Amino acid sequence: MNGFEEILDAAAKGAEKYGPVEGDYISPQGLLICGKCHTPKQCRVTYGTRERVVGCMCRCAQQRREEERKEQEALRMEMLKARRKKSAIQSSMLRNASFEGAQSTPTLEKAWNYVKNWKMALENNIGLLLMGDVGVGKSFAAACVCNALLDQGYRCYMTSFVAVSNMEWNDRARFLSQVGEYDLLVLDDLGAQRDTESGRETVFSLVDERYRSRKPLIVTTNLGIENLRNPPNLDMRRGYDRLLEICGPIHCQGESFRAKGRRMSGIVRKECAC
Ligand SMILES: [Zn+2]
Repeated sequence: MNGFEEILDAAAKGAEKYGPVEGDYISPQGLLICGKCHTPKQCRVTYGTRERVVGCMCRCAQQRREEERKEQEALRMEMLKARRKKSAIQSSMLRNASFEGAQSTPTLEKAWNYVKNWKMALENNIGLLLMGDVGVGKSFAAACVCNALLDQGYRCYMTSFVAVSNMEWNDRARFLSQVGEYDLLVLDDLGAQRDTESGRETVFSLVDERYRSRKPLIVTTNLGIENLRNPPNLDMRRGYDRLLEICGPIHCQGESFRAKGRRMSGIVRKECAC
């Protein structure tokens, strides 16, 4: 048997799974026709002086195969997203944070506006400073933004000031050298890190790296705006001044509201007076 015949045999074998089934019929030319889509399940192949009938896919079999391919692709994308989120968001509690299904609050509304206007924010290096008491959903809102942009294929990373300042010196230096690579960096809980020279230096370095990369930064904090504008020492002032330059302050409050029917519009500006 020559190579060509082997190929024909393989093709015939591959097409076996598509027929014949009940309802299929034979055309006047002697080829098997699909009873559903009425297109051939067989075709004639001529090579040299010989002719063979081989199986092929009718239209509905082709559609079925295309749907299977799409399903597999969607599954692969979901797995990829889950893997990306796992390595992008350090807190397991925030990894699945999503606007979808969450009860809307003024903070979430502003976070959603930010996502909607992301390209402009990215171009102009506009970040957010989510301020407010514990439990008002600042971290959740920040993680929702992070996840929404991860879903759009952007490189995002969310960690906390505490986690970075607790890193070993080498790890921290490595992390600082790459924070400019992310499209969006989210740093949770400014003010919770140790109030030491090293803690203050970490804050400044993180903010400064981001400032110099000209890419957006989102920070959450329990500190009030007065604390940020008038910190107790000069080390902090350097970092906070820079932070306020690139992140628009948002005062987050805990009350929820009905978002239904409300239109979310306009990007959160640097000088947001909310
Ligand atoms: Zn068919």
